[in-house]
Amino acid sequence: MTDEPRPPRPDLTPATRLVALGREPVVPGGQVGAPLVLTSTYHADGPVSYARSGNPTWSAFEEALGSLEGGEALVLASGMAAVAAVFSLLPHGGTVVVPDAAYNGVMATVSALEADTAATVRRVDVTDTGAVVAALEGADLLWLESPTNPLLEVADLEALTAAARERGVLTAVDNTFSTPLLQRPLELGADVVVHSATKYLSGHSDLLLGALVTPATADGRALHERLRRHRQLHGGVAGPMETWLALRGLRTLHLRLERACANAAALAERLADHPAVTRVRYPGIGAIVSVEVLGGPAGAERVCAATEVWVHATSLGGVESLLERRRRHPDEPATVPEDLLRLAVGVEDVEDLWRDLSAALDRAAD
Ligand SMILES: *Cc1c(COP(=O)(O)O)cnc(C)c1O
Repeated sequence: MTDEPRPPRPDLTPATRLVALGREPVVPGGQVGAPLVLTSTYHADGPVSYARSGNPTWSAFEEALGSLEGGEALVLASGMAAVAAVFSLLPHGGTVVVPDAAYNGVMATVSALEADTAATVRRVDVTDTGAVVAALEGADLLWLESPTNPLLEVADLEALTAAARERGVLTAVDNTFSTPLLQRPLELGADVVVHSATKYLSGHSDLLLGALVTPATADGRALHERLRRHRQLHGGVAGPMETWLALRGLRTLHLRLERACANAAALAERLADHPAVTRVRYPGIGAIVSVEVLGGPAGAERVCAATEVWVHATSLGGVESLLERRRRHPDEPATVPEDLLRLAVGVEDVEDLWRDLSAALDRAAD
């Protein structure tokens, strides 16, 4: 077992690396796949003594994801465990800059900090680079998602990370929606990448898992060590079984994402012409499309109730297409329209998806 990632083989494409990495060394008769190691403790005098500090299945997943993001990964129990680890870096009474609409768990986290007067929160329109830069003065942490969930707004990550660095502000980028195949925030200057591996990375809606990735620089390694200590001492660690399943899912990320993105692009175009759709939000990348529909929130709920192929459920990033009205969640920010449906496009046949969705949309104005 080793905690040191193996060389990332940058000569290989991401598609080849996600298939090849995180496997055991070649030993005649040895297993080809990654090990699933179920233990709480290890024989003494090895590199790791207890499973809250390390696990070979974690190392396999971290090797693969770290290589894809171009840094060093840490696996955590869920995306929110990864979010909480990053917020543990915020000094008491510190200032955080966040999008005015982002993942609702992050919005609820910053609201709770604010209510406890533990932090000052500056909410910004991430599409307005000048406004975000102005909000960075005296801040400690810049939290970004791009595209944002669920408004699909796109931030200029490169300009914002550069402005944050000049002012000594740490930048975290939640890359759950894009995955390292579409966007690599460390290359764009981020200090830490956050993932809900529950979504595309694992890809089958059958587990919760999170991850953080930091750059392989001196500053990045120091940050990695603080986050690793947080994981060890906070104790909300990833299950080896979940981690193993996520690595198994990661092997097909390129195939799943390619199909889901192609489906999303085709559906976004057709949705623009559907008479029940008043607005389509699609950033031209990724597999999430948000639409606003006729009939208000009740119209949106009627659409969800009427689909047969699309599954009415929260979450995203699995092989199956999901839809839901986001404002049904109390933590969803009021900046999200009441009639907005988030469509998490899966890998089914696009004609089946369109027939089902377009018939359900016909019910919106009933
Ligand atoms: C789901 C999600 C999270 C939270 O991840 P969990 O694995 O559910 O804890 C964080 N950020 C984004 C963008 C998400 O979609």
